[in-house]
Amino acid sequence: MNIPLNEQMLTVEEALEHILELTPPPRNKEKITLHKAHQRVLASDVIATFDVPPFRNSAMDGYAIRSVDLVEAASTKLNVVGKSFAGHPFNGAVNAGETVRIMTGAVMPKDTDSVIMQEHVQNQEDQIEIPAGQKPTQNVREVGEDLKQGDIILQPGRRLHAADIGLLASMGIVEIEVFCKPRIAIFSTGDELQSLGTPLESGQIYDSNRYTLDALLKKAGVEIIDMGVLPDDEAIITKALGNSAYDADIVITSGGVSVGEADFIKDTLMKLGHVDFWKIAMKPGKPLAFGKLGDALFFGLPGNPVSVMVTFALFARESIRIISGEDKQTSVSLTAVTLDDLKKQPGRRDYQRGIYKRSNTGELEVSTTGPQGSHILKSMSMANCFVVLPRQSEDIPKGTDLEILPFSDIL
Ligand code: AMP
Ligand code: MG
Repeated sequence: MNIPLNEQMLTVEEALEHILELTPPPRNKEKITLHKAHQRVLASDVIATFDVPPFRNSAMDGYAIRSVDLVEAASTKLNVVGKSFAGHPFNGAVNAGETVRIMTGAVMPKDTDSVIMQEHVQNQEDQIEIPAGQKPTQNVREVGEDLKQGDIILQPGRRLHAADIGLLASMGIVEIEVFCKPRIAIFSTGDELQSLGTPLESGQIYDSNRYTLDALLKKAGVEIIDMGVLPDDEAIITKALGNSAYDADIVITSGGVSVGEADFIKDTLMKLGHVDFWKIAMKPGKPLAFGKLGDALFFGLPGNPVSVMVTFALFARESIRIISGEDKQTSVSLTAVTLDDLKKQPGRRDYQRGIYKRSNTGELEVSTTGPQGSHILKSMSMANCFVVLPRQSEDIPKGTDLEILPFSDIL
């Protein structure tokens, strides 16, 4: 697979398939408290140990009654014999012709099976009058309606969101088993890169990619090992990459993978590991290096700031999902009509940047964020989605339906 891959122009799908094949599952699990569980990936089944709700209770503020007491054609009069409030059940008997004042979440008294909303009731001292037309057995929450004892409520591979945390808490669960976060090392490469906090000299630019990657990785929920900037110096790159491979599950670099003269990463990787240099039929982000560096996976992303983000989103992010233990989740893809004419040359699939929204008539529409060069980070900053232009298409006129990939999950 290795030599041919370097020669071919791969499609995005082919490249992703190879990447996912080589991506290992998570190495370790750990126990954590529920307070720390948000956005972590569950590593074992969670089983309901009791029913939720654990007792029949009222869904409304009102009066708990026995449905048999309802008079069909006329209003019903009942005597109020007590109250059942949340956390303070009514423990007496409710006999024929009797009712209990009840609040939402309070235990249904024995023999009652229905709750009349207080808004529907006329109240005179200790007696209420219920107008005709009430349905029997209404406004009651049954035992186990939410969760049944013995049910698997959450499964391994799930990245826990706020509702999952609440669900676990409703079971009284304080500790869960999750996969350990993968450790991801990042580098920037390039003699032109200056660190933030130091004035720029002639020919220098600030190292923005490392900050972008740091933010993308924070969103992805991993441990980040920031290894700084490396000059275009073969000996230094070799040493740093060699060291990082011991510590990290994945090493991600930006820059130095194109065919420029000072692109040392390639030669270094050939010595240290097993890395392929791919041409992918996409724009931006055509060159991508991928392979193994010792035990670590290696992604050599292109240097241009937009290319970094596109290749991260399409490839590294998906690999990180697998190594995090997350179920493979295909990103959301929608269809929107373009409001602009879009320039395109056939041969590569374009990932342009756009702003999508719902029109007054309810359709999704997308507008361009302007110049689309791979060095124009503003086009990415303004956007809320990628606009995918098919590989073989030429210029696309406004009014065409196009695939869009919203950023919400990525940035
Ligand atoms: P390269 O892939 O190293 O040839 O870089 C391609 C382009 O991306 C050049 O214009 C670089 O200056 C720019 N670039 C590379 N690394 C970074 C970085 N860390 N931050 C911002 N721009 C970068
Ligand atoms: Mg460079």
